[in-house]
Amino acid sequence: MADLFDKFDPIIAEKAALLATGVNDPFNLVMEQVHSPTEATVNGRETILVGTYNYMGMTFDPDVIAAGKEALDRYGAGTTGSRVLNGTYQGHRDVEEALKDFYGTDHAMVFSTGYQANLGLMATMAARGEYIILDADSHASIYDGCAMGNADIVRFRHNSVEDLDKRLGRLPAEAGKLVVLEGVYSMLGDIAPLKEMVAVAKKHGAMTVVDEAHGMGFFGPNGRGVYEAAGVEADVDFVVGTFSKSVGTVGGFVVSNHPKFEVLRLVCRPYVFTASLPPSVVATAATSIRKLKHAESKRQHLWENSRKLHGGLKTKGFTIATETAESAIIAVLMPGQEACARMWSALIELGIYVNMARPPATPAGMFLLRCSLCAEHTAEQVDIIIARFVQAAGIAGIPLNA
Ligand code: PMP
Repeated sequence: MADLFDKFDPIIAEKAALLATGVNDPFNLVMEQVHSPTEATVNGRETILVGTYNYMGMTFDPDVIAAGKEALDRYGAGTTGSRVLNGTYQGHRDVEEALKDFYGTDHAMVFSTGYQANLGLMATMAARGEYIILDADSHASIYDGCAMGNADIVRFRHNSVEDLDKRLGRLPAEAGKLVVLEGVYSMLGDIAPLKEMVAVAKKHGAMTVVDEAHGMGFFGPNGRGVYEAAGVEADVDFVVGTFSKSVGTVGGFVVSNHPKFEVLRLVCRPYVFTASLPPSVVATAATSIRKLKHAESKRQHLWENSRKLHGGLKTKGFTIATETAESAIIAVLMPGQEACARMWSALIELGIYVNMARPPATPAGMFLLRCSLCAEHTAEQVDIIIARFVQAAGIAGIPLNA
C-alpha cells in the first residue's frame, strides 16, 4: 500500500534538520498563561508579545469581556447551527449593525472567520467566464477562494499599478471582473497604493474588494482601514475584514453598499454550510467594534509605537522590509532559514515573542521576523524589545549593518 504521507517526507526532514541545530521550534509554542495583550508566560518565562496582530489590545478590554460573559450566561456556549437555519441570534444581528455603523455601509455579513469571508467572496462573486485579478502577494485565503471558484485568475506584480493596468487591458472588455487588493500586506507590512489601484480598476470596469484585515482600527479618521485613509470609500465595492486582529476575538465579515448584496446569504457556501459564531464571540466583537470607533488615542499610540520600533531597529543595523513604518507590522529580514530560527530562538529565550515567517507564506523566498505592535505596548516595552533584538543578534551571530 502506498503511504499517502510519503509526499511530506522532505518537510519532515527539513524540520528535523532545523531542530537538530538546537533551536526552539518556532511553530510549536504554547502560551502557558496570557496576562494582557502584551504579556504572557511562555516556556515558564515572562514574555513580551510582539507578534499577535492584537493591534488595539481589545482582548482584555473590561467591557468586551463583560459582554462575552453575559452572552455566555444568557445564550449558552454555541449556536449549533448555520446562519441560515437556527444559527442567527440577536447577537449576530447586533454585530452586523455595529459593523454597518463602523463602516457607514448599508450591508454587513458576518462569517465564522476572515478566512471564510475571503473564501466565500472569491468563490461566489466571480463565476466561469469572469475574472479575478489579484496581487501576487495576496493572502492564502484569497488564493484558496480563487481555487474553490470557477473564475479565471490573473495575478499582477505586487503593488504595481502599471502591471494591474496592463493585465486588465488584456481582458475582454465586457467580461465581469473583480480586482482583489489588501490595505496592508501582512508579510512585509507595506501598504497598497489604493487610490491609483482603484482608479485603474474603475477605468477597466472592474468591481473591487479590499481586505482590511491589518488596517481596521487604526488607518483613516474612523479607523476603517487604508481605503478610508486613501479616500476611496465611494469606489470600493466590498471590504473584507476579520475579528481576529484589532477586534480581538474571532470571526470575519464583508461590508458593502451594493443593493443586491443580501443575496450572498443564500449563495455563499462558506456562509451557509458552517455553524455560526458562538453568542459570546459576537457579543465581544460588537462591543469591541463600537469602542474602536472612538479609539483615537489608541490609534495615535499604536502609530507612535510602530515608528519607534521601526526607527530603533533600523538605527541598530537591522534590515526592515519597508523604508519607514507603513503599518503596525515591522518585518525584520533575516539572511536565511537557520539564521532566522536561531534569532527567533534567542529572542524567545530573552522573553520576546515575534512571528517567524518563511516561504511559502513570504514573498520571494524571504525569511522574516515579523513584529506587530499593540496600542497597549508602553514606550518602555518598545525600548526593551529593541535592546533584546540587539542582544539576540549577538547570541545568534546575525551581522548588523554598520
Ligand atoms: N486576510 C488577511 C490579509 C489575513 O492576514 C488574514 C489572517 N492572517 C485573514 C484574511 C484571515 O483572517 P482570520 O484569522 O479571521 O481567518
